[in-house]
Amino acid sequence: MEDVVIIGSGPAGLTAGIYAGRALLNPLLIAGQAMGGQAASTNEIENYPGFPDGISGPELAQLFQRQAEKFGTRIVYDIVTGVDFSKHPFTITTYSGPIEARTVIISTGVAPRKMGVPGEKEFSGRGVSYCATCDGFFYRDKEVAVVGGGDAAVEEGLFLTRFAKKVHLIHRRNRLRATPIAQKRAEENEKMRFVWNTVVTRVMGDTKVTGLALKNVETGEESELAVDGVFTYIGQVPNTDLFAGQLELDEAGFVVTDRRMRTSVPGVLAAGDVQTRVLAQVVTAAGSGAIAAMEAEHFLAELEGQGYPERQHEQ
Ligand code: NAP
Repeated sequence: MEDVVIIGSGPAGLTAGIYAGRALLNPLLIAGQAMGGQAASTNEIENYPGFPDGISGPELAQLFQRQAEKFGTRIVYDIVTGVDFSKHPFTITTYSGPIEARTVIISTGVAPRKMGVPGEKEFSGRGVSYCATCDGFFYRDKEVAVVGGGDAAVEEGLFLTRFAKKVHLIHRRNRLRATPIAQKRAEENEKMRFVWNTVVTRVMGDTKVTGLALKNVETGEESELAVDGVFTYIGQVPNTDLFAGQLELDEAGFVVTDRRMRTSVPGVLAAGDVQTRVLAQVVTAAGSGAIAAMEAEHFLAELEGQGYPERQHEQ
């Protein structure tokens, strides 16, 4: 029987591990497919406090991991295939078998939203990518497209200019959603070209991507753009399929929590991008992971009839 099981190894899950570990709860963290979550596939993080010169995503994730393990978090590389929150203790099913848990912290994060156009799935891994940090190196002196107008599209597009000779940023509107500092850098970068009011209607290729079919949403005009790769950053969808019917989810599938990261099931907490719709950043993921761990401690103390001093101003 585990006291605290954390599902997911991004900044929220690893911070929950640090706090639950320091509370001597001996947490078990199920890491999923890759350690570090989305942050680990971000080239550079320059707004996480304490790193004024920026830090690479993989490096920051390694530091989080080291700190969680230092305080006793046990990390297993396994995948959760099902959960049963209908009775307490909860059951979490993994490839290695079932685990019983008195509290669960869900930090499964989000996955890239797909364009859903012909050719996208077919050429995934053969020119269609969702990770510039992972695949950018393969596009040295080539032309690539980035789809989207948020921070991810702009920042990862800028990263791609280190390798590619041209980066075409295709956005469905004529204004970026990205923060002003990222916009300014993109506008000043000679390798960036903006394709406004445009969506991708098809990914074209033979054995790999050779181009994109585009449509101007204002004029309806159709065109083709020859590129060797396309990096898609059109937002994210929460990784919550496992929890449908078990927990309250909002209309977009995010886990609904209160300010203490409590879900609709007492003893099940959620932290990080999987529950936030406000500001999806490493710093907010880490903060909510800390709150979730303290709440798990609170819940366990109440289970044991020890009560827990109510904090002031809490809701
Ligand atoms: P986002 O801010 O939601 O931006 C998504 C972009 O994709 C928007 O420009 C949106 O267009 C466009 N889009 C959405 N659906 C589309 C569709 N079906 N077809 C074409 N375009 C579509 O998502 P994000 O950039 O992934 O950022 C998510 C969060 O992470 C944000 O809070 C962001 O600040 C944060 N963040 C990420 C990074 C990173 O990943 N490197 C860096 C810093 C911060 P509209 O603008 O028209 O809605």
